[in-house]
Amino acid sequence: MRKTLLLLPGPVPVAQPVLEAMSWPMINHRGPEFAELLARLEREMKPVFGTSSDVLFLGSSGTGGLEAAVASCFSPGDRVLSCPVGVFGKRLAEIARVNGCTVEVLETPLGAALDPAALRTRLAQSDGAGFRGILLTHNETSTGVQNDMAAIAAVTRGHSALTIVDSVSGLGASPFEMDAWGYDVVISASQKAFAAPPGVAMVAVSQRAWKAIDSSRGTGYYFDLKKAREFASKGQTPWTPPISQFYALAVALERYHADGLEANFERHATYARAVRAAFETLGCSIFSRPDAHSVTVVAAYPPDGVDAAQLLKTLGERYGVVISGGQGELTGKIVRFGTMGDVAESDLLGAIAALELALADCGATVGLGSGVAAAALVLTDARTASVS
Ligand code: PMP
Repeated sequence: MRKTLLLLPGPVPVAQPVLEAMSWPMINHRGPEFAELLARLEREMKPVFGTSSDVLFLGSSGTGGLEAAVASCFSPGDRVLSCPVGVFGKRLAEIARVNGCTVEVLETPLGAALDPAALRTRLAQSDGAGFRGILLTHNETSTGVQNDMAAIAAVTRGHSALTIVDSVSGLGASPFEMDAWGYDVVISASQKAFAAPPGVAMVAVSQRAWKAIDSSRGTGYYFDLKKAREFASKGQTPWTPPISQFYALAVALERYHADGLEANFERHATYARAVRAAFETLGCSIFSRPDAHSVTVVAAYPPDGVDAAQLLKTLGERYGVVISGGQGELTGKIVRFGTMGDVAESDLLGAIAALELALADCGATVGLGSGVAAAALVLTDARTASVS
């Protein structure tokens, strides 16, 4: 098979030592070695969430973590406020509906971030006090939009509603301070900024959320955070865990911390800036509004006259560079370029060179090398800034 470069916003390229960890022998998931592995994962994950509370590990993709949060925190009939900024925010609202919640929606135009002032107004309306939950997205992968979670926290902190934050494609790529910001349940997954294979969801739960969970009529069985907590206290998961994925995540986290939080944050931000600079130079307009750019995924319209689906097909089939298309109403309209995973600067520049060629193949007028030069400038500027 020809070599491909995976630049999706998840799953992402995984380093060889992380892949190799998946070949380690199985262990007793009710024994001391697994308990040690789980304790290590929790210890190393807490600083990334910015919490000293519990972090639970579920054998599932991110959606399982979202379902566990909703099913455990709320009871059928509870009113929750959903604040979607794209497809994944809408999916979280759907999970709440399926679990019996009455969902109200605060709408935001696609490409924009959630406006904290609009949220404040909505919560201040006379019936805002009745919300049991507020559903938020840290990073909306479908639009390349990142919400300002510190600014949103200034609005939600102190409100009686539990805050559920989907940070599946956000956590690990930029600062997150769950405790300081006062968020209740934050969910992430292994296959994004942690550069591990898919299969593990991480769910951080505040002490306030535990109180609510203990008194709610939870609707989940497999995805029951109370059961997860009970077994975690014994160094176990309630159900047979994907042991190989847990190994891989442990090695990925070790690599993550060897670089350090700051270096990880800087790399994602720099890569995203470099990709945006390249897209703009090549005549692709960035979908997210200027104050709402994600650091993990860049969404852009192709230049006029270039079909997005044709561009993706050419890029993948002719040049071996795999990026994503649009979702929902943006299907066929935009392309999305991920910045997460074991991606070197040379990978990024190579992918941009391939993008130039694919754009030219699809009929766009491009100065070959101009996108690479724009991205390279961002990378060198970032290096100069971090040295000085
Ligand atoms: N939320 C967001 C913001 C995501 O990006 C994704 C995955 N792209 C999900 C939820 C769903 O996660 P998973 O596919 O791991 O279930």
